[in-house]
Amino acid sequence: TRPHDVVIVGGGAAGLAVAASILKRRPHLSVTVIEPRDIHYYQPGWTLVGGGVFNRDQTKRPMASVIPLGAKWVQAAVAEFRPEDNAVLLENGESVHYKVLIAAPGLQLDWDKIKGLKETLGQNGVTSNYRFDLAPYTWELVRTLKSGRALFTQPVMPIKCAGAPQKAMYLACDAWKRLGVLGDIDVNFHTAGAVLFGVADYVPALMDYVKAYDAHLHFKESLIAVDGPAKTATFEVTDNEGVTRTETRPFDMIHVCPPQGPLDFMKKSPLGDAAGWVEVHHDTLQHVRYGNVFGLGDGCSAANAKTAAAVRKQAPVVALNTLAILDGKAPSAIYEGYGSCPLTVERGKVVLAEFGYGGKLQPTLPRWMIDGTKPTFLGWFLKEKLMPGIYFDLMLKGREWLAEPNVLSHAPRPFEVEAACNF
Ligand code: FAD
Repeated sequence: TRPHDVVIVGGGAAGLAVAASILKRRPHLSVTVIEPRDIHYYQPGWTLVGGGVFNRDQTKRPMASVIPLGAKWVQAAVAEFRPEDNAVLLENGESVHYKVLIAAPGLQLDWDKIKGLKETLGQNGVTSNYRFDLAPYTWELVRTLKSGRALFTQPVMPIKCAGAPQKAMYLACDAWKRLGVLGDIDVNFHTAGAVLFGVADYVPALMDYVKAYDAHLHFKESLIAVDGPAKTATFEVTDNEGVTRTETRPFDMIHVCPPQGPLDFMKKSPLGDAAGWVEVHHDTLQHVRYGNVFGLGDGCSAANAKTAAAVRKQAPVVALNTLAILDGKAPSAIYEGYGSCPLTVERGKVVLAEFGYGGKLQPTLPRWMIDGTKPTFLGWFLKEKLMPGIYFDLMLKGREWLAEPNVLSHAPRPFEVEAACNF
């Protein structure tokens, strides 16, 4: 069979954004998206569902309605990558051949790594904004809790949207404050990390809210078990000497952010690094071993914040570099690690963190318009009113407003055309 020009694995934010970006530039290419689900989720909206701002149905669309015009959708799951044959093997046994492959399968939520969690999610006061069906339960718990102890947990990095676990806490505290019950609720944030947020410039603004809400921060504490009926959570606590012990704490409600990692089928894949992330050069997003393979989104090894915002900047880079490979040229569009996290510190205010590799601040708008290190109404307005439109109507349609990539006049490293264009 003739190979497709481009095969994209995953019809999430990354897969669809890059498909749209390629087709916008070259509408006649044969671009195939392999995606098993028939629903596409706007996951950044789940924080607002858990905060009682969005209805969950605002965060889903039929897959067929968001597949970019001109792309072919194969509704199937990929079982294996066979880069030596320029093919992917589907779970139904069929092979799909390509000239260029783009791997965007996302990541896996490892609910099973926390003992007892899966059985009790959605009941006994145990919830998570990390699932479409559970985010409304977060709001139900927040709305109805009048006193007691609320726990919010964050696992080891990397996770998608590193700010989401604390966003859940801030929006809950804001609601309790408005309802006049915050003083009767003991709020606790347990993070496996040693800091509140990985980029120091945003921490002072966040700490102001932690203090104002009288929330207690617990560092180096990883949730390891939940007993729903007994309403207790067990943590592995590491002290300053590096010694670990377990501690069990009662709760009235607990918001859990699950541990996350590469998808199981990636862990033994030739495309994966030691962990199973699609192993790419962090600048061009080209695979380190296979010249006609690219990776982007949550599933790739680049050290950016795993966000849809990152995808907005990655997609045009991968699109341009894909076209370069198809033309027998070296990839020269560069991704600088941009990611963004709108921290919803209260209803109506957001601390808009925008940064690249190494935590370097990369604000999109000038500081006089929006200072991302401070809580602003404009940040909230963006998150609530503009982001869903930016996502569905710009990013997933290949309209790259304020996302033009940096293109070098030379390839960033020696390039073997033969090896890259072996199709
Ligand atoms: P996904 O969108 O998860 O898509 C991966 C796709 O690959 C899925 O459709 C899946 O079905 C498919 N797939 C999996 N396995 C296979 C297979 N074997 N074969 C074929 N297809 C496969 N980002 C922000 O920018 N701002 C935010 O405020 C924000 N908040 C968030 C809050 C929460 C609670 C969550 C959960 C996420 C948030 N994010 C936010 C992160 C954002 O949603 C992700 O970074 C983004 O969706 C990543 O896109 P992706 O395409 O890599 O992965």
